[in-house]
Amino acid sequence: MLCADLSYLKFVKDATTFLPEDNHYDYIVVGGGTAGCPLAATLSENYTVLLIERGGDAHTNPYVMREENLLDNALQINDKDSPAESFTSEDGIPNIRGRVLGGSSMVNFGFYSRGDDDFYNRSGIDWDFDMQKTAYEWIEETVVFRKNELNLFQSSVREALLHADLKPDNGFTLDHEGGTKTTGSTFDATGRRYGAVELLNKGKPGNLQVIINATVERVLFNSYSTDISAAGVIYKDSNGRSQQVQVRRNGEVILSAGALGSPQLLLLSGVGPSSDLASMNIPLVHHQPFVGQFMIDPPLNQVSFISPFPIPIKGSSDRTVGIQKNLYIIEAVSAIASFFSPAITKTSRPMSSGSLKLASAKSASITPRVRFNYFADSRDISACISGLQTIGKMIRSPSMDQYKFVDKDGNKYYQFLGLSLPENISDRSKMESYCRRTVAPIYHYHGGCTMKKVTDGDFKVTGIKALRVVDGSTFVASPGTNPQATLLMMGRYAGLKIREERIRQG
Ligand SMILES: Cc1cc2nc3c(=O)[nH]c(=O)nc-3n(C[C@H](O)[C@H](O)[C@H](O)COP(=O)(O)OP(=O)(O)OC[C@H]3O[C@@H](n4cnc5c(N)ncnc54)[C@H](O)[C@@H]3O)c2cc1C
Repeated sequence: MLCADLSYLKFVKDATTFLPEDNHYDYIVVGGGTAGCPLAATLSENYTVLLIERGGDAHTNPYVMREENLLDNALQINDKDSPAESFTSEDGIPNIRGRVLGGSSMVNFGFYSRGDDDFYNRSGIDWDFDMQKTAYEWIEETVVFRKNELNLFQSSVREALLHADLKPDNGFTLDHEGGTKTTGSTFDATGRRYGAVELLNKGKPGNLQVIINATVERVLFNSYSTDISAAGVIYKDSNGRSQQVQVRRNGEVILSAGALGSPQLLLLSGVGPSSDLASMNIPLVHHQPFVGQFMIDPPLNQVSFISPFPIPIKGSSDRTVGIQKNLYIIEAVSAIASFFSPAITKTSRPMSSGSLKLASAKSASITPRVRFNYFADSRDISACISGLQTIGKMIRSPSMDQYKFVDKDGNKYYQFLGLSLPENISDRSKMESYCRRTVAPIYHYHGGCTMKKVTDGDFKVTGIKALRVVDGSTFVASPGTNPQATLLMMGRYAGLKIREERIRQG
């Protein structure tokens, strides 16, 4: 049993009270999120690190910290300083991203499952798999809980997934394997959330400093003849005061601001498609045509129904999952409300993609414009239909009978909430229409600084020295499953790799 450890707070200062004695660091990590926290903690084992996060610390906020408040958590969103920020993509679909120390790992549903081989193969990274394994273990010993006990709803769904032929039964595993499994969670048995912040506890005192409520506005560059090199960043505190911090010789700026934040910062700093930058009057530092491209948000479609009896309001995150590899995954979340529970299908390898553009050339606080083009690629429609057809089979499972109403003649029936799943699940045109009409986000968007397009396989921004990106913006493809495990691992892994590279170079 892990115990809550808040010792990371000793590293944390609000930006308004932060006076850097010597404002030079070996590494400046921008974004104290899912990848940024493990990365900063790892680098601090050997080097001085400044981690800069635009949000605050939320360990006393019950809407963030308690599993039973998952729905209320979403309701706490405001425009300015809530731990979760809402944005609506140009597809017209509302979405969410983290704005808090620990990033989206502090506002998510806690589902923890490792990425799959197909993701590793396509990622553009030449993985050292032993190092990757130790990186996963480093994360899991601190923030992952393996409780086997499922609540009534999750158990019924598990049986229904097997009934719908999502086999074999893989029991409990953190690996992403075809079939049905129970996975880990970042909520402990008492419902307390753990997240990337706990990994900061592993940082080295004296080397790690974390500032919160500090929004990085842009990256600063040095230019020597043809070489451009990142030199530091400018951030603003909550009083609007600007401050510059710089990297030491051989130091680096690392962007871990997430799939919206990292491409936004590159563009604000003059790194991106020259025509877009010119249209926003941003001086060009480096023409990089792919910044903001390949934005992908795996679509979610759900079937919701009202339960004839109150499913206990005490929420629980999703732990049961059915996996049809490379096509879809099906999860069930019983935290949504007391009287209904959805089964959701997520297209696990979406091919449709869109792009991100700045909404303001002046402020990093203004969310960029993003379009995902859900279902533009017909393969995503096929994946959605297959997932929904499996849900159609699941809800015919005897284990789900208890969620049916009974009419006066004794006939059992579901009372759907919202759109009913078509009666004939083989009718492709009706199913396609259901996919398009019910599309929603599962908040697993990625891209914008994709590997081998914007960065090389070592996370370095091509054409610029001393600048890397380590977060979901680098993903070429979805990790098949929900992404937080892969991103937490990636933060640790990139830190180990950077240290190894620096030691090798002497
Ligand atoms: C509501 C929700 C539910 C989800 N559920 C799950 C789940 O159950 N399981 C799962 O695996 N995944 C889930 N996800 C997805 C997963 O949490 C994210 O994909 C992942 O956390 C993203 O990690 P990241 O490091 O790329 O970005 P983030 O964790 O979002 O970190 C980026 C950080 O950078 C900061 N930042 C941005 N711009 C700036 C700037 N200019 N200056 C300073 N700081 C900045 C942000 O405030 C943020 O803290 C969910 C996501 C959401 C939003």
